[in-house]
Amino acid sequence: MGMPDMVTAEDIEKVGPLTRQQPRPHKSRPSYDGSRNSNRTILTTLLMSTILFIPVFLFLITTVAPESWKGNISAWLGSEIGEDNGGKGFESESESWRASSVQGDEYLIGVGKADITGPCVEINMMGYADPKQIGTGLRQRLYSRAFIVADPAHPADRFVYLVLDTQSGDTAIRYGILSGLQELGADYADYGHHNLAVTGTHSHSGPGAWLNYLLPQITSKGFDQQSYRAIVDGALLSIRRAHESLGPGRLSLGSTKVYGANINRSLFAYLANPEEERARYNLSTEDDGSVEKDLTLLKFQRASDGKNIGVLTWFPTHGTSVLGNNTLISGDNKGVAAYLFEKSVLGDETAAEGFVAGFSQASVGDTSPNVLGAWCEDGSGQMCSFENSTCSDGKSQQCHARGPLFRANDEGTSSCFEVGKRQFEPARKLYDLLNRKPNPVRGRWVKSFHAFHDMSNYKFQLPNGTEAVTCPAALGYSFAAGTTDGPGAFDFTQHDGNTSTTSPVWRVVSGMLKRPSEEQIACHGRKPILLDVGEMHSPYQWTPNVVDVQVFRVGQLAIIVSPGEATTMAGRRWKNAVGSEISMLFAEESGSVTPTVVLGGPANSYTHYITTEDEYNIQRYEGASTLYGPHTLAAYINVTLSLIPYLSSTASTRPPNGGPEPPDNSNRSLSFIPAVVHDAPPLFRGFGDVVQDVEKMYHRGEAITAKFIGANPRNHLRLEQSYAVVEKLVSTAAATSVASQNTDGLRGSELLVKALRGKQDTSGANDQKQWQTVRDDGDWHLIFRWRRVNELLATSEVEITWETESWATPGRYRLRYFGDAKSLTGAITPIEGISSEFELIEDRSG
Ligand SMILES: [Zn+2]
Repeated sequence: MGMPDMVTAEDIEKVGPLTRQQPRPHKSRPSYDGSRNSNRTILTTLLMSTILFIPVFLFLITTVAPESWKGNISAWLGSEIGEDNGGKGFESESESWRASSVQGDEYLIGVGKADITGPCVEINMMGYADPKQIGTGLRQRLYSRAFIVADPAHPADRFVYLVLDTQSGDTAIRYGILSGLQELGADYADYGHHNLAVTGTHSHSGPGAWLNYLLPQITSKGFDQQSYRAIVDGALLSIRRAHESLGPGRLSLGSTKVYGANINRSLFAYLANPEEERARYNLSTEDDGSVEKDLTLLKFQRASDGKNIGVLTWFPTHGTSVLGNNTLISGDNKGVAAYLFEKSVLGDETAAEGFVAGFSQASVGDTSPNVLGAWCEDGSGQMCSFENSTCSDGKSQQCHARGPLFRANDEGTSSCFEVGKRQFEPARKLYDLLNRKPNPVRGRWVKSFHAFHDMSNYKFQLPNGTEAVTCPAALGYSFAAGTTDGPGAFDFTQHDGNTSTTSPVWRVVSGMLKRPSEEQIACHGRKPILLDVGEMHSPYQWTPNVVDVQVFRVGQLAIIVSPGEATTMAGRRWKNAVGSEISMLFAEESGSVTPTVVLGGPANSYTHYITTEDEYNIQRYEGASTLYGPHTLAAYINVTLSLIPYLSSTASTRPPNGGPEPPDNSNRSLSFIPAVVHDAPPLFRGFGDVVQDVEKMYHRGEAITAKFIGANPRNHLRLEQSYAVVEKLVSTAAATSVASQNTDGLRGSELLVKALRGKQDTSGANDQKQWQTVRDDGDWHLIFRWRRVNELLATSEVEITWETESWATPGRYRLRYFGDAKSLTGAITPIEGISSEFELIEDRSG
């Protein structure tokens, strides 16, 4: 069966890559011969599944001693906060804070963080859906950050909120975590569907190939077990760390304004919402309501010594600061914000060791971090058209959003750091304020619910009494056009027969496209259907029809865990509805305290977008990606409200499942991702040999690079370790001081490992020099790149670059590479290389 006539290459033309000198050819699609690529090529046993994963708690830990730079970064961050924000980021204290003489209630609280960095090379990156965007290295490791709150009187009443540096939550990932928790035994019996939220920061710069449904697997050539396991195992480790750290403590809640970190990228659609509704949120020119400027922060303070163990924040802005032409893995702007926050509290007396800062995504749907707006990069100097983001040629290819530092022309990297900093700064100020003036969470209940709900044909009543129905998932034409942040859609133009760019998955499944029924067309109203994904079940489901509906409640805080990307106004309606329902149902519990409702997501699954009906009818990207028709939002709200009674302080039951359990495709997904064959050094060279060495001296601010004979980093992900570090020459006894300086959230045995390893590292027989690791590849400014030099000879090269920061300490350093080589027999052997020493001196100017 061929593709329906209605879907032509022209129809689904999309925004191309950012370097677009050569527009992609849009030939009409040749007829597809499905027999050549039979479904029998489905690989049910995945190539990477044979890799044995060492129990995570046995991983060796790389040493990062903050001592050499914590004073400097604190000073730098401090001055930046003072200068840049000028207090503007804050509401006045009297407005912001309800006077409170109460300390708030005590809960059991715990936090944990663990590495989830999957394969950083040779895997398609998840977010822009450009099959040509393949990872080439690592700018920043990715993490899972776990936050647990439990009721001390009823410890089974608890929830765990995960913030993953991933594009979204996911059904297969969530199943993997749940079964891992089960394997952990009785201690973890209190965790289950009802109280586990798996949220993604929506970074578009992580590796892909871990998602449950077919659609996002198309551009990644299918599913990759290694990519998947890295996330599941890291998430589990973060939960274990949080669980093991559980102890009595208090929560404090606040909100502040964040400026310069988001704009509405679909203002035309937003303006379709009722004027009186928009007016309620239009507070000023700077805060006109088109996006939410509010950042909500939950502070975790343990009772034992009054130190804070973490913060969890919500603020909406897309993880698209780093653009689609970047190929380095990072957590995008949320990853930067978390990184800066965690560094800023190193050595701070208010913060405990192992402090975890989670920057969770919120009503992200129509937001963009590219705050200078969308411009035509066609020499016209014009902004893109307001209605449909096209340029003078009537097309969207030339339309690109600009981040605050777009002139750096560095794939959005500088803008990303800036937008991360713009979230970190007000969050840190709010943290300091809450330390002085707590706004405690009160109410001795920790409640949660979760339900699967089938959205394919859900009949319900709208608040005005009219009947409404949702439809099986479908994507509209504007989905393929992408967004001004980049090609947000999957690359369906790649079926043009060019085998070098055609995804093998697409070749298998494109023949399975289905023409929507009259009923389905009618159900979706103003959305012209491009991909009838909800009615295609072969070879397995393309997108979810069954969604996760989940809310957590502790004291006056309620957290809606959204499986899709709610737009600004959609999120508000959902939050307002939940807030009103809680106020009404639980008035006697909460006293006069108004509930604070936040929305976190995309979580648990990925159900694309959730717009208001008015926005839906505009059919920009977000509306075209609102899967279940015009009443999608109303249905989510309807189902959520029906379950709110389960959040009562006395509730002891859980909701019946409203839908069938969604499938777990992690063991039966298509995969065309080849494994690493082997690695070899070139003739007369060895692994780790320096092929391009550092110079003798650098000024601070310069980039320092060394290249080594390397091996494929997919051989070993080095989770909780590093591929690249910067070591500083220290005078004496560095290794023994490492443990006491540790701030990475590691516990006793791991500290010991770090200390031992530090000793080993410094016990070189031929000199008495002591080296201390001061940066690793978790650091934003230390970059690890890998490239295959010769496919046939299996030779490859790694490049380590330290972009020395303004807070770097002058001194004597070296760069060090850790890798793992695969022999022809499949054996994996650790390798390493060390650059020559170099001197870092003060900035050129000073
Ligand atoms: Zn998005």
